[in-house]
Amino acid sequence: MKSFRQELRQQLQARDEDRLLRHRHILHSPQGTEIILNGEHVTSFCSNDYLGLAGHPDVIQAYHDGLEQFGAGSGASHLVSGHMAAHHDLEEELATFTGRSRALVFSSGYMANIGVITTLVGKGDSIFEDRLNHASLLDGGLFSGAAFRRYPHLDAGALEVLLNAADSKRKLVVSDGVFSMDGDMADLPQLVNAAMKHDALLMIDDAHGFGVLGEDGGGTAAFWREQGHDIDEDNLQILIGTFGKAFGASGAFVAGSEELIETLIQFCRPYIYTTAMPPAQAEAIRASLKLVRKDRWRREYLAHLVTRFRHHSDDLGLELLPSRTPIQAIVLGDVELTLKASACLLEAGVFVSAIRPPTVAPGSARLRVTFSAIHTEEQFLKLLHALEGVARLKGQAVGQ
Ligand SMILES: *Cc1c(COP(=O)(O)O)cnc(C)c1O
Repeated sequence: MKSFRQELRQQLQARDEDRLLRHRHILHSPQGTEIILNGEHVTSFCSNDYLGLAGHPDVIQAYHDGLEQFGAGSGASHLVSGHMAAHHDLEEELATFTGRSRALVFSSGYMANIGVITTLVGKGDSIFEDRLNHASLLDGGLFSGAAFRRYPHLDAGALEVLLNAADSKRKLVVSDGVFSMDGDMADLPQLVNAAMKHDALLMIDDAHGFGVLGEDGGGTAAFWREQGHDIDEDNLQILIGTFGKAFGASGAFVAGSEELIETLIQFCRPYIYTTAMPPAQAEAIRASLKLVRKDRWRREYLAHLVTRFRHHSDDLGLELLPSRTPIQAIVLGDVELTLKASACLLEAGVFVSAIRPPTVAPGSARLRVTFSAIHTEEQFLKLLHALEGVARLKGQAVGQ
């Protein structure tokens, strides 16, 4: 009989042969635009710290102050004795920020998504997800035991066909607000319309939209509201945000009606059976939230970088997926070519990671460039210059 370790080794070897083995890069610096990666100084274009708040002095100070005031750990789960004033204040501020009745803080977005979905649907219900939804949403759907249907990316028409065919007790439509690997946005008015017509609930995970879209950083829902669409907690019932991206920290929240939040507090196991996030972290997030709302220049500057980047990529003959967000994907398709392109950038001192299957669909390996409001002009030009090498590699690959 094959030993356990032998089996694992074979599985790892197979992944390596497919060039899909992942390696963790070690950072010896804070997250930022200039980082020390595996001992080398490089310019990073692959963090999700879109607004540059992970290293902001106000956020760091709030963390320090929070440690002084509340200590290091929360000491218990929320329902026992770990729900501190820091968490509670943050929840109230998030409810105001999102224009919802209440908000609930989770330790991570992954847990929030699994928790919310499995609390709201189960056997006898149906869940409908965009094919490109984040892994945590897909996992939540699978774990829930509900009938699981995926619709083609952004295709509200196909979603309606599926909704029409389902006759389950409860129907839940789930989508990313901004898609994490493509950078494009869900058409919320279309999703709201489809869900309403078929008596389904709508859940949007806006991990990459909060802080980045909307005048005050209110995310995808705010963006569409500003375009004149009615989007509120009656037609977009479940709103998810995370603190690991534009907020520069970590953790997540769910925002919605009084009944939704109270239901989660009572029944959501990934909320109940885990230690509350460190209260100092909640204090740091409160400081981030203030900056998210106040510093409009960060969003304006990001939009400016994105516009210029798209223009230059076009000149270089590098095709980008449609996206107005700081996530700009250069799809090269081939895994080997994408790894080479990433290595070529690294040689020029620019870090952009190669995103490969299974994170993205087979044949759609890509460089995922992300911008931050603290990228300087000089860093931006360095990226453009380095991308000339990628354009050459691509040209050679096509020429073969
Ligand atoms: C990052 C991300 C998550 C997971 O959030 P964590 O707080 O990192 O666990 C969930 N959904 C989307 C769309 C994400 O991009």
